[in-house]
Amino acid sequence: VKQKKRWLRIILLIPNTCRIEKHFQVLGKIGCLGESPGSGYLRAAYSDEETEAMRYIEKCALAMGAESRWDRLGNLSLLWQGSSGLFVETASHLDTVPFGGNFDGTAGVVAGLVAIEELLKSNKPLHHGFRLRIWRAEESATFNSVYAGSRGAFGQLDPKVLTHRYGGRTLAEAMLSQNADPEVVSSGTPTIEQHEVDSIVAHIELHIEQGNLLEKQGLDVGIVDSIRGPRRFLVTLTGKFDHSGATPMGTDYRRDVNLALGYIMVELDKLCKKAVANGSDLVQTTGVINSSEELNKSMPQVYQNAVPKVSGFGYFCLDIRSKNLAFLDSYCEDVKEAISQTAQRFNVQADTSLLSSSPPLEALSESVISALQQSASDLKISATVIPSGAGHDAAVVGSQKRSDNTAIPTGMIFIPCRGGESHCPEEYTSPEAIAKGAAVLALAMQKLSEPKPTI
Ligand SMILES: [Zn+2]
Repeated sequence: VKQKKRWLRIILLIPNTCRIEKHFQVLGKIGCLGESPGSGYLRAAYSDEETEAMRYIEKCALAMGAESRWDRLGNLSLLWQGSSGLFVETASHLDTVPFGGNFDGTAGVVAGLVAIEELLKSNKPLHHGFRLRIWRAEESATFNSVYAGSRGAFGQLDPKVLTHRYGGRTLAEAMLSQNADPEVVSSGTPTIEQHEVDSIVAHIELHIEQGNLLEKQGLDVGIVDSIRGPRRFLVTLTGKFDHSGATPMGTDYRRDVNLALGYIMVELDKLCKKAVANGSDLVQTTGVINSSEELNKSMPQVYQNAVPKVSGFGYFCLDIRSKNLAFLDSYCEDVKEAISQTAQRFNVQADTSLLSSSPPLEALSESVISALQQSASDLKISATVIPSGAGHDAAVVGSQKRSDNTAIPTGMIFIPCRGGESHCPEEYTSPEAIAKGAAVLALAMQKLSEPKPTI
């Protein structure tokens, strides 16, 4: 009990806020798109900026006595060995979406660094070691591939994504530019081998919430119990371009793609509302209609659309997410059926192809969740249990099996972000909010690293 109280005092008394602020001042200059942070950020996946941010964290960790390891995909692990050969981990990413903020991902990396710094202060020999991972290329907005670094590390990244393009180059070319090896992806070779998977006692990712529930309820942290899996589709619609004045109305004369597209949107919204009303966990979004720069390059016929023409070609992208895999599978079949039936009504041909898919993590680890709950309660930091609407690398980690067939015990901490905003220049979370999250992270990592976890 005395030992426990000492730990609490250490974590509570040290003002981590200043250190967090200092890290953000440095990182705030890397990939900033203008004079001020208000201009937004771009640290694209496998860019010089992403690497520079990773190198900064590496330098700080080396000063704290870490061993540094870059894998062949350019993911970074910073480790502090313990006597057991096992590790309690924390992780996140430093890449951003275009015109994103400096907190999505970055808050988790900085919190992880500060939490481990706190844990090392006792100068006790470690039983389980600590590891901070920085994954490459978490964001899909650049190369249209979710969690490229973490999936690749477990040998589970679809090689097709190597040809995806962003900023005038393929993912494979971008990887080569940062000394990563695309051959690892094409051959499906894991960079985290089974013995390393087996060495992970627990894995915790801290992240900004990207929603406004915590802020609205005035809570300090969210403890995540499940992570929705995203499934994304590209739907192309082919009809016939015709003169808008000379072509009579009706499907006998017109194969109007824009009209079909409007009706498809309505049908999909009905389908979604029905599923939600039946109690299913589901969100569905059409983020792009004929307006992706990269896709327009590969489908230039979209530019034939004009004010005095019946539309003969168009496309849209769908993003469908649920925390329940079986439901997601069956719902996506219904969506495809609704698209093709509605298109047929307008004599339009619809082709639906899968852009990317990542399974949900239906349940995070109960032991990690309870370590996080106890840590928050010990520290008098207010917390609630919530699902994660956005996808995270933790979903990949938590679905990996150790040799005893159990999944890597994985958990997540959410911290509030202003107005629930993310992936935009306005994205912000305060150093105090990160410090509170880091305190919960540190105490949970400490509990989970003891020979007999005190939970
Ligand atoms: Zn993120």
